[in-house]
Amino acid sequence: MFNKILVVTLSILFFAFVVCIGYDGKENNMVQNEELLSQAVKFHGHLGPYLVLGLRAGLFANQVLEKDPMKTEAIIETLPEPPESCFVDGVQFTTGCTMGKRNISLVEGEGLKATFKKDKKILTLTLKQEVIDEINSLPPDEEEAWENLARDLYQREIERIFEISK
Ligand SMILES: [Zn+2]
Repeated sequence: MFNKILVVTLSILFFAFVVCIGYDGKENNMVQNEELLSQAVKFHGHLGPYLVLGLRAGLFANQVLEKDPMKTEAIIETLPEPPESCFVDGVQFTTGCTMGKRNISLVEGEGLKATFKKDKKILTLTLKQEVIDEINSLPPDEEEAWENLARDLYQREIERIFEISK
């Protein structure tokens, strides 16, 4: 009897596993690249939600405007200090807009808004209030909670993170 239950349980688990793998394969273009994340963390120094939000914004801008580190301009409006300003490093890392080239700027503002300009095209991403609330509700000293949210945001659908205007 026990053996039968075990066999049935294992079969169900195996089936669930196969379904998950299959699903993952289909949704592959939604899954963000782990290698890019670990390189960005090396560049920035730590893993945090605002770094990841900057990566997501930059990757999305690359998709919409086609990546061009020379022709693109990025304007980030937020609090000009960490953790919010960590966003800038995510954008620099992905878009190639850099402080040195002066094609990224940080302007003091409320919430978080990123504007990308290339040729005559403009893309604006505004961080949703619920994501801001989610980050603000994290316990300040629990690094693991910050890293877990960062990882979650790295895989979350872009429409659930930003208001997008093209
Ligand atoms: Zn940071």
